[in-house]
Amino acid sequence: MSILVVGSVALDTVETPFARVEETLGGAASYFVTAASLYSQVNLVATVGSDFPAEHLDFWRRRPVNLSGLKIEEGRTFRWAARYHMDMNTRDTLDTQLGVYAGFHPSIPDEYSSSKLLFLANIQPELQLEVLEQVPNARLTVLDTMELWIMTERPQLTEVIKRVDMLLMSEEEIRQYTNCASIVKGVRQLLDMGLHYVVVKQGSYGALLFCADGTFFSAPTYPLEEVIDPTGAGDAFAGGLLGYLSTIEPQQHSRYSIDEIKRGVVHGNIIGSFVCEDFSISRLRTLTMDDIAERYQCLVMFSHFDPHWRPGQIQTVGVKQF
Ligand code: AMP
Repeated sequence: MSILVVGSVALDTVETPFARVEETLGGAASYFVTAASLYSQVNLVATVGSDFPAEHLDFWRRRPVNLSGLKIEEGRTFRWAARYHMDMNTRDTLDTQLGVYAGFHPSIPDEYSSSKLLFLANIQPELQLEVLEQVPNARLTVLDTMELWIMTERPQLTEVIKRVDMLLMSEEEIRQYTNCASIVKGVRQLLDMGLHYVVVKQGSYGALLFCADGTFFSAPTYPLEEVIDPTGAGDAFAGGLLGYLSTIEPQQHSRYSIDEIKRGVVHGNIIGSFVCEDFSISRLRTLTMDDIAERYQCLVMFSHFDPHWRPGQIQTVGVKQF
């Protein structure tokens, strides 16, 4: 089942306390496409300038990525620069240059119309709305956003939230959007807007899934000894989630079961953890399904605990003699 993504393709300059890379492949859609194409075909809608290095397109051509919705315009590719703090979870944006995105309007090619899964990656909310108008029959629509749009385009963002099935937001973004100190209260406010699922991204601490039917799931994190660059972890998370869902046929009324959504969130965490192991999409270039399966089993082990304890069943395990 193919996946449609609309979002940014960029050249990023990223500084961490330990290293710096310049004009490397970035952009929300780039991370998503590279991650999700490990599972299924991905149809990309984006734009780049005439300065965009051909090697990146050649890489995607070797993957199940359809580039017929990628416009190459005369002008400069979107550029973004950021510096990470010592905790590697927080960062300052140093520069954003829209380049060819300034005049961009997404146009969905006819051959993409059978895509059943839609990911609205981080991009101006009004462009996300234009995409929703053109893809009315997706089985699952998933939205990502960022602080910039919460601050500058709240009404348009609200319109998009009301029209999608699932929202991905960091804890901080939920607080900013809902003005609730409590994440649980904030999520309830979001679910009341008509969402079926809200996924709270918690950086290196994993992710929380809240469903409109009341289900709650805490997806474990994979403890990385060294984080090289967390850029794009959220987009790669979405790539793992939708990538996994694209491999299964939903059972009931074309809706995914909660267990399927939960497994998708775990796949998201796994791919997100791999991305952090190198700059840009580098780690995803060599990633295999076996690597993913191995980390999946680790997460099962890390988060499993005995469900059989009851009060009054205290077992004596022996008293240490001194
Ligand atoms: P994440 O780390 O998941 O928030 O994603 C970071 C990616 O988003 C970077 O590769 C940037 O190129 C891209 N990005 C940053 N700012 C914007 C923006 N205003 N619109 C679209 N994409 C952006």
